[in-house]
Amino acid sequence: MYDPVWKRPRSIEESIEALSETAGAGGPAAATAEGAGRERPTSDISGRAVHARPIAGGTDLAVRIASGIERPSTLVDLGRVEALRVFERKGHRVLVGATVTHGRLSDGDELRDGARVLRMACGRVGSPQIRARGTVGGNLVNASPAADAVAALVALDATVHVRLGDGTASDVPAREFITGPGTCALGSCDLLESVSFDLPGEGARSVYLKAGQRNALAIAIVSVAAVYLPGEGRVRLALGSVAPTPVRAEAAEALFGDRWPGPRGDDGLFGEVAERAAGSTCCIDDVRATASYRRRLTRVLTERALREVCRRS
Ligand SMILES: Cc1cc2nc3c(=O)[nH]c(=O)nc-3n(C[C@H](O)[C@H](O)[C@H](O)COP(=O)(O)OP(=O)(O)OC[C@H]3O[C@@H](n4cnc5c(N)ncnc54)[C@H](O)[C@@H]3O)c2cc1C
Repeated sequence: MYDPVWKRPRSIEESIEALSETAGAGGPAAATAEGAGRERPTSDISGRAVHARPIAGGTDLAVRIASGIERPSTLVDLGRVEALRVFERKGHRVLVGATVTHGRLSDGDELRDGARVLRMACGRVGSPQIRARGTVGGNLVNASPAADAVAALVALDATVHVRLGDGTASDVPAREFITGPGTCALGSCDLLESVSFDLPGEGARSVYLKAGQRNALAIAIVSVAAVYLPGEGRVRLALGSVAPTPVRAEAAEALFGDRWPGPRGDDGLFGEVAERAAGSTCCIDDVRATASYRRRLTRVLTERALREVCRRS
């Protein structure tokens, strides 16, 4: 029977310690120290050693454990670490702790205008039950190309704050944090501490559009996060579920260049930008949709997003 050791740290330092203890040279043997004599699984389905894993909401990890993909010998429960639950604004900077839930961000009204994109994205995750447990940190570390909050964070040009296993801090741009499907810039003893971003300035607007097979409990076939920054004369566009990681559509953004649309917008330009976004990013062809369907959908959603954020009503 799978019966992991549970550790319940109260601080970031204790969490790192718990992860490092069990992932060290002693590996699985060290992890069993608290439960000597108990049989502990020490490898995942493909035979790789798995020692300790942080667990936040458990909405991804519990599924992986139940299906035998992963069997960590130790689970480090982050639920009691208050420092990871911070959600605050300091001047123009917003800081979101790793264990802040999607529900907290989508149900609150703090994220508006230029930052609304994150509220909308979190509101499209799973169902109310999943949003009540699932966290922003878990969404990042799970590293799905379709992760809703991640596409929004990429469009907000967010920074991920990591505490490394040796206790030092490291910052990684959100757009570089996910390195491939299921992999991210985090070692097995590292902890994702928080994510932060600058509040888009005066007049900024943003939107998150997602198309799935259903409106609820559906993983994105395509998602588009758009942040309109009139002060900087540009729009940041991020796309989810079209490539191995959530991506910025920079080639498309560049088309705005000096052709910045007036208050009534420019349908021709929006169409061109959308076409470029689809053409330069879409490559996933899987059970949910073909690459060519994704390209069409990306074009439609991007154009819709641009109309919504760039036009003054
Ligand atoms: C029915 C269902 C529907 C879903 N629908 C969606 C959806 O529509 N959109 C979407 O984006 N996702 C969806 N998900 C996936 C999931 O809910 C999200 O990815 C969620 O944000 C994961 O957060 P969590 O706290 O539950 O992570 P957990 O399951 O606790 O952890 C996930 C991974 O992250 C690691 N981890 C967690 N926190 C940290 C940390 N602070 N530092 C280091 N590592 C950490 C864990 O070790 C684990 O490897 C769905 C899941 C289910 C079960």
